[in-house]
Amino acid sequence: MKPLTDHATTETILWTVLFEQSGDAMVVLRRDGSVYRANQRYADMLGYTLEEVGSLHVWDWDIRFSEQELRKMLLSADNSSAHFDTRHRRKDGTITDAEVSTNGALYNGENLVFCIVRDTTVRKSFEERLRQSKELLERIASQVPGALYQYRIAPDGMRSFPYFSEGFAALGGLAQEELSGTDVDHIASRVLPEDAPEIERKTEESARTLSHFHAEFRIRHIDGSIRWIESRATPEKEPDGSIIWTGILLDITQRIHAEEQVRIMAITDGLTGINNRQEFDRLLEHEIERANRYQTPLALLMYDLDHFKQVNDRYGHNTGDTVLKTVASLVNNNIRGIDVHGRWGGEEFMVLLPQTGLNTAKDVAEKLRQAIASHQFNKLGSITASFGVVELAPHENVKSLAQRVDEALYRAKERGRNRVEV
Ligand code: GH3
Ligand code: MG
Ligand code: MG
Repeated sequence: MKPLTDHATTETILWTVLFEQSGDAMVVLRRDGSVYRANQRYADMLGYTLEEVGSLHVWDWDIRFSEQELRKMLLSADNSSAHFDTRHRRKDGTITDAEVSTNGALYNGENLVFCIVRDTTVRKSFEERLRQSKELLERIASQVPGALYQYRIAPDGMRSFPYFSEGFAALGGLAQEELSGTDVDHIASRVLPEDAPEIERKTEESARTLSHFHAEFRIRHIDGSIRWIESRATPEKEPDGSIIWTGILLDITQRIHAEEQVRIMAITDGLTGINNRQEFDRLLEHEIERANRYQTPLALLMYDLDHFKQVNDRYGHNTGDTVLKTVASLVNNNIRGIDVHGRWGGEEFMVLLPQTGLNTAKDVAEKLRQAIASHQFNKLGSITASFGVVELAPHENVKSLAQRVDEALYRAKERGRNRVEV
């Protein structure tokens, strides 16, 4: 055996296999910055031939560090490895990003620095593009009223928000820093307890059928107010079995309030603020049905102001309106919460008294009559009203009941007004 020859062969194999064939660009530098050896990859990366690279110094292509800095780095390289990012100028002048790992070592009596270089230009530009798309997403998201979000349920049931735009925290009045993507409980706790089960039910259904999620619910804002939130999201199943919803959250408080306003306006008499005719009819129907089903008594009383034309004639229509408002509120103040007060026509009103028999209803009417008669109205002093009272008969319908109460009222008028007729 000739150890020297073996050694040399091994050496050749090492250089050939590890150095020349490597997929990484490698260069071995002398401490003075000149090239001891470079592999083909390295030459390709810089766009030089191998011979050309051999005649260069590291500062000929490294543009991040100065010659002075590079000399210092080469001299201080020791047996441990170092990693850093740098930038290279290729022969054609273009710039590439590089990630370098270096190791100082003594080889054949020479102090060398072994470098492995990865071209990170593609990765860097990918990262840059990713950063730009994130920035674009945030810019777009900031234009959306409300917030964009992603919600994830992992196969083990773990829930998180992998993404949410800046507006997310603002919906609940929370500071952006207060939220992290795993803060599901923190966020969910702002939803009103009454509304939470419905959201959960819809979430489960959406996950099961992979159908669009849509919910409207209330949250408690940090300022104590209640806000209506609308959420729309589309679920997707991930390869790992988790479900991710991508969607939007909107503050719809104003819309809900406006809708509520419209709903109230539709059922309220504009002048007196009590139920209008249409709504009173509906409630009357409803109460008759209930009284029939549960066999409870139900009384209806109707009143009409006496000689009201004269009020209008003497004091004007506006004063007449004020009187109507005052009378309505006098009556409101003298009936129970379950009683239903409605404006039937011009100055004709109805009061529905659930679970009330005729005698009690008559007492109520008497009390109301006195409340009106004893009130001192501005300008005109006192005014009176006549009352008709009826009790619902078995299987009686709305029409017949209304007709009977109207007849009772007519009798009260006939018999001198300011009185109650049954
Ligand atoms: P009676 O004692 O027989 O009821 O006499 P009356 O003058 O009150 O006669 P009636 O009930 O038939 O007349 C109703 C009047 O109420 C006629 C109308 O000018 C007036 N009226 C109806 N709606 C309004 C209203 O919204 N505002 C005002 N100011 N007046 C109204
Ligand atoms: Mg009248
Ligand atoms: Mg009338």
